[in-house]
Amino acid sequence: SDIDTIKTQNTTCPYCGVGCGVKATIKNNKLVAVEGRQDHPANQGRLCVKGSSLHETANLQNRLLSPKINGQTRTWHEALQHVADGFKQIIAEHGPNSVAFYLSGQLLTEDYYVANKLAKGFLGTANIDTNSRLCMASAVVAHKRAFGADAVPGTYEDIDSTDAVFFVGSNAAYAHPIVFQRINKAKQERDIKIVVIDPRRTATCDIADLHLPLKPGTDAYFYNGLLTFLVDQDYLDKTFIAQHTQGFAQSIAAARQQAPDIATVANICDLPEADVRAAYEIFANNSKVVSLFSQGINQSSSGVDKGNAIINCHLATGKIGREGAAPFSITGQPNAMGGREVGGLANQLAAHMSFNDSDIDRLATFWQASNMARQEGLKAVDLFDAIDRGQVKAVWIMGTNPVVSMPNADKVKRALQKCQLVVVSDCNDNTDTGNLADVLLPASTWGEKSGTVTNSDRTISRQQPFFAAPGEAKNDWQIICDFAKYMGFEQAFDFNHPYQIFAEHAALSGYQRQQSYNRAFDISYFANISQAEYENLKPVQWPVNQANPQGSRRLFSDGQFYTANGKAQFVPITARLPSEQARPNEFVMNTGRIRDQWHTMARTGKVARLLTHIAEPFVQINPQDAARLNIAENDLVECQNQGSTYLGRARLTEDQRVGDVFIPMHWNDAFAAHSRVGALVLDNVDPLCGQPEFKHSPARVRKF
Ligand code: SF4
Repeated sequence: SDIDTIKTQNTTCPYCGVGCGVKATIKNNKLVAVEGRQDHPANQGRLCVKGSSLHETANLQNRLLSPKINGQTRTWHEALQHVADGFKQIIAEHGPNSVAFYLSGQLLTEDYYVANKLAKGFLGTANIDTNSRLCMASAVVAHKRAFGADAVPGTYEDIDSTDAVFFVGSNAAYAHPIVFQRINKAKQERDIKIVVIDPRRTATCDIADLHLPLKPGTDAYFYNGLLTFLVDQDYLDKTFIAQHTQGFAQSIAAARQQAPDIATVANICDLPEADVRAAYEIFANNSKVVSLFSQGINQSSSGVDKGNAIINCHLATGKIGREGAAPFSITGQPNAMGGREVGGLANQLAAHMSFNDSDIDRLATFWQASNMARQEGLKAVDLFDAIDRGQVKAVWIMGTNPVVSMPNADKVKRALQKCQLVVVSDCNDNTDTGNLADVLLPASTWGEKSGTVTNSDRTISRQQPFFAAPGEAKNDWQIICDFAKYMGFEQAFDFNHPYQIFAEHAALSGYQRQQSYNRAFDISYFANISQAEYENLKPVQWPVNQANPQGSRRLFSDGQFYTANGKAQFVPITARLPSEQARPNEFVMNTGRIRDQWHTMARTGKVARLLTHIAEPFVQINPQDAARLNIAENDLVECQNQGSTYLGRARLTEDQRVGDVFIPMHWNDAFAAHSRVGALVLDNVDPLCGQPEFKHSPARVRKF
């Protein structure tokens, strides 16, 4: 009608790390349509099935609309006073490390920044970790070891010009659909080579020239074997190695010891020799190779080493810093990288700084911090263990659902039940975690929030609001700033708009850069950004500084890395198998995403259409194993580990290796009983980064 008001707003998809640009159409204050933004470098007009259903999720179903204490509706003042009183008392009695925060890769960078500033600069604790620990902590450490900084070398454009893509531990067809579609387009247009290295045959294999269903957990042996092959067959880029790297001799010695030839690798990885050779030749014979690695590499008790084993092969052949050539960690969450930039992990400080005295002092000065944390905090698994032991007595969980998503999730549940003060800020009511909270704080969500996110290729994009938050919901950065005032820190948290937080974050990135060598994360160009410039910020890849005001697409093109001497570091890898092997009567249980759901289904579970792809929790099993256990298609199957039970429908498929089962990560108690697979996942972690081994837990399986 002629009184309809229709407007459009550019924003960014809140789901995966691809970070697609979205154009939202709002009619009469209601989101009625979404489409992909042509002008966004991540997606160039495309959206996947999750992104294209965003308008169907923007409703008030299950929203938390007001603060609550012990289930009773309260005012914001009452709720924040209650939390502040609790935090103050616990800190006074037990010290700052008796409180903790657990954040989320769903938060915007500005939310993350103020939460970290509060905890590390003013409460005096670095007990602030995030569900990004479950996602990319391995890649962070691998990058730091190899490049001297947590910097992803490539850009999505490299996909458009590469000659070969290796998907390693990645089902991008489901987990990063728009990147997958882009690769598929390159395959159709230029017949690039596609290799998938994954124990499971996934939808990603539909476009593969070669699928290597290796034995779970043997990836680093495979890549040590590739390094040996590159040396023995004379495929090295000796000039690049000599001029731009160090540590090659030690790395090849370590690789050769474990993986002296293809026959040995094929035996360890349980693959045909011919297929191993074919994959190695594809890597060696194409100068432009992109290795996309994801959770199959990261979620491992040796994920850092696996990442470095891949990077070693790129360094050995100079396949880095060049068009179409990169080792490329693809992150799970929309803002996993933004969190890393603001020090969103318990062992990091803001702007990629570390817990060394000079960085701590530098940050304390910049923040005028009254109580700067001087030691690393507890990483996710250790943090919930400390809650379980009663050592951490208050925890504030923001925008995530650890009772579903953490490994050993029943232990996490028990820990929160015992914890003295559990605060949960979330947009949703009745989550598995929120149901254990003493204090619930209503947060705004996508479509209401304003801020920035950073995707897998370092592109910073704006998320824009197009309607007001419902009820009494507030933005996460506002909740933290308000809380900081109740704690007595008015001055340092006197932010009225997210652009001010972004500007401070940008200024800090320049501040620390002037005073120390070669840090990668630099967005100092935005240190004086105005509100209007922030509102109109175009997608831009960091570093963004006076030398590169348009941002930086590909890193390391000049052969200079972020290490002290500018050389990339080969890391000698001694491959290890997963920390716990399945016994003869057990299966190896793998977990992961399905195409149409996101995380614990808080948003995508609202859309009936998205449940038509896969409607129920399932257990994917090889027909040979199913026959042995008398399991038929669609039978209910029970899986057990560490005293916890998961129930799902049997899906029989040759895509699954004999002896392995696959279970989706999404379902939870809100949807079906005994469907939290996290309860069965061991909480073994990589000792270098604390990332849990979600891809390899033993499980007993039987017909229910
Ligand atoms: Fe959203 Fe990821 Fe799909 Fe892009 S690929 S539309 S970011 S879920």
